[in-house]
Amino acid sequence: MASKNRDEFSPDIKVRVAAASGYRCSNPDCRALTSGAGTEHPINVGEACHIRSAAPLGPRYDPTQSASDRASEANAIWLCRTCAKRIDADVVQHTVERLVAWRAEARAASACELGRPRVTDAAPTNAVRLSVIGLAPGCAWRELGPPPQRIFNLRFDGDPYDPANVARFHEMRPHERHAGGRPRGSRHPIVDITLVNDSPVSLLVTGVGLIPEKMWARPKGLSNVYVVKTFADYELTLVKMVLGERQVLKLPHPVHVSPGLALRYTLHLNGYRESLRGNESIVRFCALTDRGDLLSGPVYLGAY
Ligand SMILES: [Zn+2]
Repeated sequence: MASKNRDEFSPDIKVRVAAASGYRCSNPDCRALTSGAGTEHPINVGEACHIRSAAPLGPRYDPTQSASDRASEANAIWLCRTCAKRIDADVVQHTVERLVAWRAEARAASACELGRPRVTDAAPTNAVRLSVIGLAPGCAWRELGPPPQRIFNLRFDGDPYDPANVARFHEMRPHERHAGGRPRGSRHPIVDITLVNDSPVSLLVTGVGLIPEKMWARPKGLSNVYVVKTFADYELTLVKMVLGERQVLKLPHPVHVSPGLALRYTLHLNGYRESLRGNESIVRFCALTDRGDLLSGPVYLGAY
């Protein structure tokens, strides 16, 4: 249905979009291979689709977009024919934001898989891991001891039983919080958490939270660098903490984490100080998923 009123993609862009998604459909629940051998010629069942429509009255058309932006690679998402049909038939479900997220995730997934041998179901060890990797900006807390594991440097080589190797955070002293007479930063902890899906199947995260715990235990280091799928911000308002009892925020929008990808989020622990008996704690962060509850290694949190 080519028409000169449509801002179509060039053949070059179509090839680039297909390759950047690994020749797979970008719908995270589909991921069908879109290229394969035929008897005489290779067969393609994929399409470069417009995120914002190529023409007025089309799905997700944006009149403020220029013709060149409309025909640009950034406006293209690679989908199998079934999903291509579906996104244009149901624009309520398939918003620009959703398609942009699909596109980013598909590109991250293909970058992650590139040149790697295929993962088989034979040994899906250490399938899903959860780790606290630091404090989020805007938090008037400090990291103690050795730097906690960070997203771009996730090796954990120290003695796992040494408390010095456990992520430890402490609230700043009052005079530090009030530098120049003005309070700075949040007094409730805001932690930066990563959940990695090493398994060959997609994971659905339905809740995030913590469990107070007083025992030291083996922390789970993350041994590889992963592509970050999403950055979300969740606020959990705590009530009086009881050892061993979890407090969890049910996510209004559960998050899919595709195989080989990570979900990174910040968790605001509102009311942490008020909910704590005393001023020191060891907690584990948890995530509720369709494959059971996940726990992080122990994390020390202390307050003045
Ligand atoms: Zn598809």
